[in-house]
Amino acid sequence: MSFQLPITPPDRVGGLVAGRASRGGGVEIPVYYPATGAQISTLIEDDADAVDHAVMAARHAFDTGPWPGMGLTKRVEALEACRDAILAHVDELARLECAATGLVLKELKARHMVRAAYNFRFFAEHISQSSGQVYTQTENYVTTVTRVPVGVAALIAPWNAPVALATMKIASALAFGNTCVLKPSEQTPLALARVVELLQEVLPEGVLNLVNGRGPVTGAALVAHKCVDLVSFTGGTETGRAIMSAAGQNLIPCTMELGGKSANIIFASADREQALDGALAGIFSNNGQQCLAGSRILVERSIFDDFTEAFAERARKVRVGDPLDDATELGPLASNAHMNRVLSFAGMAQEDGGRLLTGGTRRDDLGAGYFINPTAFIAQSNADRCAQSEIFGPFATFLPFDGVDEALHIANDTEFGLVSYVWSDHLPTVMRMNDGLRSGVVWVNTPMMRELRAPFGGFKSSGVGREGGAACEAFYTEEKTTSTPIRPANIRRFGV
Ligand code: NDP
Repeated sequence: MSFQLPITPPDRVGGLVAGRASRGGGVEIPVYYPATGAQISTLIEDDADAVDHAVMAARHAFDTGPWPGMGLTKRVEALEACRDAILAHVDELARLECAATGLVLKELKARHMVRAAYNFRFFAEHISQSSGQVYTQTENYVTTVTRVPVGVAALIAPWNAPVALATMKIASALAFGNTCVLKPSEQTPLALARVVELLQEVLPEGVLNLVNGRGPVTGAALVAHKCVDLVSFTGGTETGRAIMSAAGQNLIPCTMELGGKSANIIFASADREQALDGALAGIFSNNGQQCLAGSRILVERSIFDDFTEAFAERARKVRVGDPLDDATELGPLASNAHMNRVLSFAGMAQEDGGRLLTGGTRRDDLGAGYFINPTAFIAQSNADRCAQSEIFGPFATFLPFDGVDEALHIANDTEFGLVSYVWSDHLPTVMRMNDGLRSGVVWVNTPMMRELRAPFGGFKSSGVGREGGAACEAFYTEEKTTSTPIRPANIRRFGV
């Protein structure tokens, strides 16, 4: 079995600095199509010198260019031009994204690219409405607080939803007047390289730059650079620790959107069909590769057997296959190494005493691509490795509970705290759960509702800081307090 490529990608892909190819200088890295395992392009890594060149281009654009001081009307127009550029290329961008990630093309077009365009519209609207603060403490003084751009932003994005996640960072950094250097994951550089090329055509020179390469090489050089003023990172928790340590040396602020092991908690008082749909969508959307996946499914004991059986029956029917087929629900995982890692948890779950409900194996009938069967285990306890580790694939771990207190105890018994899902039609149950859950987001009777105005981010090892309208405004700006006398100030006179 061999699947067709969604698009013929460029033979070589590299960084883009101020409208020109970046300096490269590093190793060549193969880019694969996850549906076939075939190499489809080659990434030219940017070494530390190339990263320096990109950062200095952004620095120059910030220190001397029009972007940071640009008036509102023009900046809104520029953000709208970014949105239009993406909307005019949805098909091409979705195909490039599909080629490197293996995500289902239909979803990429309908959700990821539309969301990417909306990110620019959202921040254009946000800055149109934001205002400063004015204080008149005494009749003689007016004190204003204005927000000014911070400077050069290093934006580091993961491979699981490259364009949708990176454009949130680009749009918010730019909206508040910063200039940027973006580093995507070396596994998934294709669509973002084209996005940056398109956006560079409508933005002033040097405002948005792209470097490519491995995290410990290109990414590490970027976050440690002395001319970077802030870092916005989405990725794994261990990488987040390394980046925050590096940024700490330069005393610059970071936001960290990190991993999760989110509890999807289903009470007997829930609408069973809605909860079942939500449990499946929570773990199988985006090929299961998402930080906000509801990967630990806690089910009240009285409905546990019935619910897990119904889940397994539906999981077995999930259509795994060609990302270009509109009927496909689960495409290949992003890389061979990642597939093997996800499958290794099936072995660990069994070693820890878990019971297999379905899946746990590779789809060998689909050729050399990185396909696996949708997987579900009943863990022996919440201490099992499949209940504690972020697996980041289509792998659900079930646990039973009795009542609100035990549900809260299990849900919070993890190093993570990104999202929780609660399913119940009993209001006091919902309210008690919401009160006790230690996570940055709680979704009640719904999976994956993202409101961009509201802060998104995690407690504990799931993150530091938030993304969202006001949260991004706070992160991407410095507050400046200015006091001015209305009448000549009554100044204490020395030496008179
Ligand atoms: P990684 O942490 O491995 O990588 C994320 C990015 O950081 C990549 O661009 C990577 O480059 C880069 N990187 C790696 N090491 C360094 C370093 N030392 N210095 C600077 N940059 C570095 O995460 P994944 O790409 O594997 O993404 C999956 C993870 O992302 C999951 O844990 C998931 O939970 C999390 N995530 C969190 C989200 C949230 O909003 N909370 C949303 C989506 C994902 P390269 O890959 O090229 O090595």
